[in-house]
Amino acid sequence: MEDSYKAKGLRRKLVAILKQKGIVHPGVIAAIEKIPRHFFLDNAFIEHAYEDKAFPIGEGQTISQPYTVAFQTELLAPKPGSKVLEIGTGSGYQACVLVEMGVQLFTMEYNRALYDKTRKRLPKMGYQPIFKHGDGSLGWPLHAPFDGIIVTAGAPVVPQALKEQLKVGGRLVIPVGDSQVQKMLCITRLNKNDYQTKEFDNFSFVPLLGKQGWKK
Ligand code: SAH
Repeated sequence: MEDSYKAKGLRRKLVAILKQKGIVHPGVIAAIEKIPRHFFLDNAFIEHAYEDKAFPIGEGQTISQPYTVAFQTELLAPKPGSKVLEIGTGSGYQACVLVEMGVQLFTMEYNRALYDKTRKRLPKMGYQPIFKHGDGSLGWPLHAPFDGIIVTAGAPVVPQALKEQLKVGGRLVIPVGDSQVQKMLCITRLNKNDYQTKEFDNFSFVPLLGKQGWKK
């Protein structure tokens, strides 16, 4: 698959829409303007790749809406060179946005078929995060602590394991709620025992499964 002038033009329009919706982070905007989102979609949806919408990616999962990706990444505000853990690799689009921003990315996916597909796709596009198949609700202790953790599936509660794997000063961005609607939380680790939680808008994600997520 190739990028095209048409796709580039559509990305510029998408970025303009995201700015209208309040996205300001230059790194987030540059990444979304650069990454060919149509590479991540099944043929049936390619025509719609630059609409601000979520789409099915198989296995009952979705690629998040660009606004959602932008909003979560802006809250995470990762610095180049920082160490970030993503839970829910899915199509790999959010992962590419983070790699494009210069982070050292670790990304976990629970669904074996999606893990296999995306682990092959991203390096071909020039993106090389570190992949793991497993339950991300428990984090990735081997590589902890992280400067940032971003959860791209809806959690019933904030998994304790993820809070514990943050560096002091690190941020956890996670949607928490019921199966229909979740509130976006940005949790900052202040010191060993204390965390500050800020609440943002409502979103609707596929469920975070696993030990500290929803039961299958
Ligand atoms: N960031 C993705 C969004 C994918 S949707 C993208 O840009 O396309 C959320 C993903 O979370 C799904 O692929 C789902 O399989 C995965 N998921 C659900 N529970 C998980 C868990 N406990 N650990 C890791 N991944 C999980």
